[in-house]
Amino acid sequence: MNILIMGGPGAGKGTMSAKIVEQYNVNHISTGDIFREEISSGSALGQEAKTYIDQGLLVPDEITNAMVKDYLEHLPDLKSGYLLDGYPRTLDQAKAFDALSKDSAMAVDVVIAMEIPFAALAERISGRRLCKSCGAIYHIHANPSKQEGVCDVCGSALYQRKDDTVESLQVRLQEYTRQTQPVLDFYEAKGLVKHINADQPIEAVWASVVGALKD
Ligand code: ADP
Ligand code: ADP
Ligand code: ZN
Repeated sequence: MNILIMGGPGAGKGTMSAKIVEQYNVNHISTGDIFREEISSGSALGQEAKTYIDQGLLVPDEITNAMVKDYLEHLPDLKSGYLLDGYPRTLDQAKAFDALSKDSAMAVDVVIAMEIPFAALAERISGRRLCKSCGAIYHIHANPSKQEGVCDVCGSALYQRKDDTVESLQVRLQEYTRQTQPVLDFYEAKGLVKHINADQPIEAVWASVVGALKD
């Protein structure tokens, strides 16, 4: 099954992606995670992407499309499909990906749209903490680690993303409305979108996602 998961910054895409990957045997491809890995490794791609990411702006389409294409072409194991998290995020990305994937084993089967009022996102973003080594996602109130600042899974230190600030969130929300909303309309026209109420406790959101992937 080939799945796209979409939603505003902090909607819970990463949290649901971890569960989907655990339950279904799919390749998780998060463009945000790939960019953050490129930045930590100090690559040329990472350095270029960083100037946009730090401001909350989207990385240009040419860079992002080429990166995703390369990533998909070099998957060590095709597994039962993919879960794309955070891509496509502009109409041009959606069209490029459509040209690449349609009529092939890579065609999109379902789009999970995580819906939540913008007003709820500041609390999600400001409380988000991530594990430096395994990427596990926590929230200081909604999903705290057992010991503050320490990952339950692997014991490594937790950190806060540099772009998880209120100022960056405002820019990211504008980018979402202007650039990503049209992508949802694109897939809506193809009849692929499943709407999920993402403004519920994590387990309730998960139950809705499982339901959407069943039918
Ligand atoms: P969030 O989880 O808050 O939605 P992501 O981790 O998906 O954020 O993305 C972080 C940042 O990485 C984005 O603000 C953007 O700068 C960049 N980015 C991620 N995916 C894309 C994409 N498909 N196109 C352009 N930029 C992207
Ligand atoms: P995204 O990938 O869409 O940016 P994340 O999955 O990283 O979102 O979630 C953003 C923050 O909100 C994290 O701190 C996460 O623990 C928390 N979170 C995710 N889903 C929920 C939920 N259903 N209820 C409350 N908090 C949540
Ligand atoms: Zn960890």
